[in-house]
Amino acid sequence: MKKHSMHQDSITNSTQLTDHFQIDPKSIDLVIQKYPMKITHHYLSLIKKPGDSLWKQAVPDSKELEINELTDDPLDESRQSPTPNLIHRYPDRAVFLVSDQCAMYCRYCMRKRRTGQDVLVDQNFIEKGIEYIQNHKKIRDVILSGGDPLMLDDNALDSILKRLKKIDHVEIIRIHTRIPCVLPHRITHDLADIIQKYHPVYLNTHFNHPDEITPESKQACTILANAGIPLGCQTVLLKGVNDSPEIMQKLMQKLVQIRVKPYYIHHPDPVRGTGHFRLPIQTGLKIMEYLQGNISGLCVPRYMIDLPGGGGKVPLQPDYVEQSNSPRLMVRNYKGELFEYPDG
Ligand SMILES: *Cc1c(COP(=O)(O)O)cnc(C)c1O
Ligand code: SF4
Repeated sequence: MKKHSMHQDSITNSTQLTDHFQIDPKSIDLVIQKYPMKITHHYLSLIKKPGDSLWKQAVPDSKELEINELTDDPLDESRQSPTPNLIHRYPDRAVFLVSDQCAMYCRYCMRKRRTGQDVLVDQNFIEKGIEYIQNHKKIRDVILSGGDPLMLDDNALDSILKRLKKIDHVEIIRIHTRIPCVLPHRITHDLADIIQKYHPVYLNTHFNHPDEITPESKQACTILANAGIPLGCQTVLLKGVNDSPEIMQKLMQKLVQIRVKPYYIHHPDPVRGTGHFRLPIQTGLKIMEYLQGNISGLCVPRYMIDLPGGGGKVPLQPDYVEQSNSPRLMVRNYKGELFEYPDG
């Protein structure tokens, strides 16, 4: 059997960057010692110049080493892990970290404490995770995450899906992956054939900028969608990358064109090493206010914050009710006009 060798697809040192761009590798090398770099050739080919929106997501920045109040695991994922590779925070669903590999190390990653650190997901952890899910009958939705679950080879993924599918109370499986964006040729017909044996399988991918939507990523999403896999997108709001209504509008419109339904825009988590991507909640609310009404409702995701301390996700949205003098509300529409609405 031909094994896909995914590691050859990435660059991991700064000299490979200086082959393409005129930059000083020294500051990058310093960051790499703490937070490794990995960029796929595909993603590298989409970067137009140092400092652009794609560069910032992929190339180490000395700001990652700044000392501040941010911590490695603000969401307390480790504390909510009954076994090392499973996060169980909500009653009916659990996140199962089945791979510690990523095709690219996104600089803003909320699991930066793990990515590229060789925490090694070994077979024993997988067994323990499956056992936990078997023993917890309330878990009806298993979210495969990582790292990136699609960095597993086809056989390993097939075996995990098969074992989850055998558990009666597991009603749906989700795959959370950045692969369609960063390593689209990993999405093959063989892979889609495997996934579709275990329906209902949902897949949430991860695009942050309209320039990431290319003929290759479109092809990847087409293969998945044609296999009957509903596709969603979790975008992270990032300072200097996609923090404008116009960029987000373009991204959301391009996503639905490649059959991906925008699911969440995540406010960036307060994770150590990612502080330079953080921005005010107000920026996210302004973007939501712009999207709602101006573009197709299909293009409008929900805007989420994840509460530090393991409190979970909470949707935020602009407040459209200007006054509520029961039995009348004054409500603002997407153009900022006020209307009276009879309450009750
Ligand atoms: C985000 C998350 C989920 C999934 O949340 P949904 O809102 O259902 O997409 C589940 N468990 C954990 C620990 C999470 O962080
Ligand atoms: S692919 Fe996902 S897990 Fe991996 S570095 Fe990027 S955001 Fe983090």
